[in-house]
Amino acid sequence: MTESAIDLRDLSTSAFKEFVDSFDTLLCDLDLTVWHRVRRPPDLLIPGVLEVLRKLRQMGKKVIFVTNSSHATREQYLKDLAEAELAEVSSHVVFPVAAVGQYLHRTGFKGRVHVVGDDVHREELRSWGLQVDDEIEYPRARYSYYNIKSHLKSDPEIKAVVVEFDPNLNYLKLMQAVVLLQNPECLFFSTATEKVLPPILNLRLIAIGYFADMIQEASGSSPIETGKPHPFMGELLVKSESLDIARTIMVGDSLDQDIGLGIALGMRTWHVPGEHKQPPHPTNKPTYFSPTIGHILPKLL
Ligand SMILES: [Mg+2]
Repeated sequence: MTESAIDLRDLSTSAFKEFVDSFDTLLCDLDLTVWHRVRRPPDLLIPGVLEVLRKLRQMGKKVIFVTNSSHATREQYLKDLAEAELAEVSSHVVFPVAAVGQYLHRTGFKGRVHVVGDDVHREELRSWGLQVDDEIEYPRARYSYYNIKSHLKSDPEIKAVVVEFDPNLNYLKLMQAVVLLQNPECLFFSTATEKVLPPILNLRLIAIGYFADMIQEASGSSPIETGKPHPFMGELLVKSESLDIARTIMVGDSLDQDIGLGIALGMRTWHVPGEHKQPPHPTNKPTYFSPTIGHILPKLL
C-alpha cells in the first residue's frame, strides 16, 4: 500500500461518509485506472469502477476524465466511453492535444498551427476552430546542409508548433519544427514528457519526450508542457469548470503523473495503483489509497 495515505477501505462508516461528502468533483485518469487500454469490452473496464462511478454520479458528483493519451479525438473518446457504458458517468474527457486546442480557442489565438504528430491530432485541433496545416510529405533528404535547408521553410503565419506522438516521424519534420520555432512569436507545446511508453504487446515505444527534447535543444525554445503532471490541463479545467480546488480530488494509478498533477494543483489525491507496480515516489504522497476505485464499492452500498 501507499506509504502514509489513508486507506479508504479502513475508514469507519461515518469517516467514509465524511470523505464522500468532502468533494464535488473527481478528476479521474483513464488508462489503468478506469480501463485497460488495449482490451475490448467486456474485459475493458477494471472491475467495480463503473459501479463506483455510477454511484458517485447518482450522489451528484461530477466526474471529469483526464488522460495523457491523445491517441483519439474527443469525438472518438465519446464513442469509446459510450461503448464502455461510461457515458452516463461523464462525457467530459480532457487530454493534452484537446487542452491545447481549448487553450488556443479560449485565448483567441490568431495564426496557423503546425503539428508534429498524427492526423488524429490535426483533426482534434481543427475541431476547436483552429487553422491547422496538413502534414508535409517530404522527399528523401541527403546528408548535406544545402540539401536539408532546401526542404525547410520559415513561415511567420505559423504561430504555434504542437509536438505529439508521430509514428511517421522523420528528420525533416523535426528540423521543420526547429526552423518554425526560430520565430520568437511562435508558441511551442509539448504534450507529454515520457520518453518511452510502458510496455504493451511487448513493445516499449519511443515517445514524445525524446522528440520534444530534440526540437527544444536545436531551437533553443522551451515547450509549454501540457501532459500530466504539468498543471496545464488541470489549470484549464479549474478555470473553465470553475472548480473548487478544496472540493476536488484527483484519482489515478500513476504516482508520477496523476498524484503529481493533483499535488501541483493543490488538490487532495487518491492513488489506485491496481497492478501498476511502482516504487514509492520521493515527493508525491497521495492523500488516499485503495488498490482500485472498485475496492470502495462495498463502502458505498
Ligand atoms: Mg493511468
